[in-house]
Amino acid sequence: MSFAIKAPIPATVPVKGAAAGAVFPVRRIYCVGRNYVDHAIEMGHSGREAPFFFLKPADTVLPVAEGTVGRMHYPGITTNLHHEVELVVAIGVGGRNIAAADALKHVYGYAIGLDMTRRDLQNESKKLGRPWCTGKGFDESAPIGPIVPAAQCQLGSDTPISLTVNGAVRQASTLGKLIWSVPEIIEHLSAAWDLAPGDLIYTGTPEGVAAVVVGDVMRASLGASGSVTTLAVELVARSA
Ligand code: MN
Repeated sequence: MSFAIKAPIPATVPVKGAAAGAVFPVRRIYCVGRNYVDHAIEMGHSGREAPFFFLKPADTVLPVAEGTVGRMHYPGITTNLHHEVELVVAIGVGGRNIAAADALKHVYGYAIGLDMTRRDLQNESKKLGRPWCTGKGFDESAPIGPIVPAAQCQLGSDTPISLTVNGAVRQASTLGKLIWSVPEIIEHLSAAWDLAPGDLIYTGTPEGVAAVVVGDVMRASLGASGSVTTLAVELVARSA
């Protein structure tokens, strides 16, 4: 087989501790909407609804090696770019109609990520009943730290997840505050789509979402003092 045009390079994410620099190939990026009560409330909802999903293109990942500061270009056509810090689940074994009780067997590992959002465009889409693609699925909209293999993660309901901007805390919660747990998300998601190795699931953000501007440095952390993993991203100006 040969490609008629230049073939795209698959999106990848580094794996923490991987031998010979093995990377995680990204197939799809699923995102869960409103999965923490206090974020649902800040977005004007009751906090009690079935999980719902949207997608970002795989090549919107912006992988950042731990200990380095990634560079995200401030996107076009927005004046209200928001951060959403999220636990990311990396699927290693695919499946359909996966029961919550079996779901963790399908997880390769976890990462911390940012579901960056052009909030002005998302709000306009909501008002007009249009898809969220322009608000959510733009280039570099999914910064992500390295994937930590599940066996190396000690995640529990008291595991902290947080985000600072220029050193000031913007978002701080714990995984126990997820409305839908990781196994429940996988059960719901795999009823709607066949999951496959390489899928990423951004599991939703806690309260405290707010705007960032060029020059801001976002630092996300999973685990006490980032003991599981961390992610740092600086917003830089977009060239013409
Ligand atoms: Mn989100």
